[in-house]
Amino acid sequence: MLAGRRYRLDLTPGQAEFAERIGGACRSVWNTALEQRRTYRRRGAFIGYHEQARQLAEAKQEFAWLSEAPGHCLQQTLIDLDQACSRHGTWKVHWKSKTGNPPSFRFPEGAKIAIERLNRRWARAKLPKLGWVRFRITRPLGGKVKNATVSRDGTHWYVSFLVEDGLIEPERHAHPGSAVGIDRGVAKVATRSDGRFHHQVFARDREVEHAKKLQRDFARTTKGSARRRDAAARAADLARKIRRRREDFAAKTACALATSFELVVFEALATKNMTARVEPRPDPERPGVFLPNGAAGKSGLNRSILDKGWHRIELATRSKARYTGTNVITVNPAYTSQTCNVCTVVDRKSRESQAVFRCTSCGHTEHADVNAAKNILTAGRAEHAQPRTGVRAGARKPRNRVSRKANRQATAAQATAQTEPEPAEIPRP
Ligand SMILES: [Zn+2]
Repeated sequence: MLAGRRYRLDLTPGQAEFAERIGGACRSVWNTALEQRRTYRRRGAFIGYHEQARQLAEAKQEFAWLSEAPGHCLQQTLIDLDQACSRHGTWKVHWKSKTGNPPSFRFPEGAKIAIERLNRRWARAKLPKLGWVRFRITRPLGGKVKNATVSRDGTHWYVSFLVEDGLIEPERHAHPGSAVGIDRGVAKVATRSDGRFHHQVFARDREVEHAKKLQRDFARTTKGSARRRDAAARAADLARKIRRRREDFAAKTACALATSFELVVFEALATKNMTARVEPRPDPERPGVFLPNGAAGKSGLNRSILDKGWHRIELATRSKARYTGTNVITVNPAYTSQTCNVCTVVDRKSRESQAVFRCTSCGHTEHADVNAAKNILTAGRAEHAQPRTGVRAGARKPRNRVSRKANRQATAAQATAQTEPEPAEIPRP
């Protein structure tokens, strides 16, 4: 199976500068080639990879900044562009900007990359034109290198190797028949149908406050100034730190899920809309003025700091599932939080509070997220048992649905109720 291995590079100042130039060359090859494709399309003509590669070879004769970059990296950029254009269409592929796209370039010929271990901690790889680059070997490569990508994240450079690890997907999971439903929420990041949680606070209160301060600092600087650049870098550093915690959490959660369960069911969420703010927030610029809900609240800070990374957990689980033989499926989340898992009656009133579900029909009481996770599992099991019937089991119309009028009354009653009931006993992981 193909797997990625990422290590932090220890480039010399000269190498880092050169890597920056290679990234710049690849970026301008991308932008020039994209503009060329669009120009051709406007004239009703077409230019493909082979013609562009030929013209690139000609351009390299003329420009030193192109010829100094490794040829295969530039070619790879054209191949990536070709694939992006055929997948998304020439007009939907984005330009690469200097600020929005940190340098990244790929060496496609893995067989030609020599890798040597120097000692317990360090190894080095020989990359075309860059020469020997040292990296911290934090885990074994474990396979044959297919290609290598060098990229910068903030101030650090990294190398990712794509390796063929020689492992194959097992025919059957180690725990046949085991299944779990996952409810993704705000109070707990992920609640399992067996009553356990996967939870972590990614940004502590202090850090959220600090991020707000950094954002205010940034807003006070003038465009194009050195202070603005520094303020942006400090904010990005904090966001990166929190992002890494999220990545780590996603990997650990994915590992736990894939190794213990043969079937993992997620709810299909439009995660892009999940960061909508619920309350107005104070405007940092104008004291006493509040920003409205919606677009402003969703941008920037909120997205990077308060994100729970649900999508990442699903992706990581899918990736890990290749090694354990786990099936990962998603179901429509409609009604999962309002349906009783015991008697299947759907009633908004059953959800007493954020934490408590008490069925209005049969009296079944449970932690609301656990009940939702169980419904997700039920829907997933049904879908998994008959995958190609054309009817999505998760989206089934509820049988015993309480009328809309009753639901509206319940919502109004909930809004007026000042005293929240005590949460039910919350199971611990
Ligand atoms: Zn019930």
